[in-house]
Amino acid sequence: MTVTGRVHSVESFGTVDGPGIRFITFMQGCLMRCQYCHNRDTWDLDGGKEMQVDELMSQIISYRPFLDASGGGVTASGGEAILQAEFVAELFKACRAEGIHTCLDTNGFVRKYTPAIDVLLNNTDLVLLDIKHIDDDRHQDLTKVSNHRTLQFAEYLAKRGQKTWIRYVVVAGFTEDVQSAEKLADFIAPMGNVEKVELLPYHELGKHKWEAMGEDYPLKDVRPPGKDTMEAIKAAFTARGLNAVY
Ligand code: SF4
Repeated sequence: MTVTGRVHSVESFGTVDGPGIRFITFMQGCLMRCQYCHNRDTWDLDGGKEMQVDELMSQIISYRPFLDASGGGVTASGGEAILQAEFVAELFKACRAEGIHTCLDTNGFVRKYTPAIDVLLNNTDLVLLDIKHIDDDRHQDLTKVSNHRTLQFAEYLAKRGQKTWIRYVVVAGFTEDVQSAEKLADFIAPMGNVEKVELLPYHELGKHKWEAMGEDYPLKDVRPPGKDTMEAIKAAFTARGLNAVY
């Protein structure tokens, strides 16, 4: 039986979700409720458009010269791509068959470790794991769910020796304090599979999507962090031997 996926949208020239130029498939559906979500319109599990792997592959192949020339590839993002692990695994298998680099952008909120998760990870060259907050209460405040599953998934990736970049959004009122960054760095440093920590300064680009959906944007008074804040957070990671960039 052909597996189909629910796809919110695609972007053919992504430059921020993995190395090089990426063809990005934004998968529909997410179970987190991040206050700064820049893809608010991906939450609904039943939204998006049903697609087959072949349809996506024919688009991907047409951009192949750009992907290859830049050392890029395909990134599955969202929403949350792991919610459609079977479909993304098939997509990544097809990419691998073409020699195209595969990258999984995930919040790590895995409810059940099904065989499909392993098939997906076996066909993933790089995982971009978002850790929203190391402190569970503050994670719940920020995302409406516990961080336990994400931290478990981080440990699962470490056990597998899966090449991973950790992503951490620096946002005033939640993650701009150095102590939280230090605690997160202490968690990541012993793992051995984390190649890079990407610090993402909070931005307001998702605001218009909330407004377009007739909803109040929760962080409307929050501004992006300054350079001093970013440097202080970065130092918390580099002091623990991690390769942190922003
Ligand atoms: S995990 Fe990503 S898509 Fe889901 S709510 Fe958070 S920012 Fe939005």
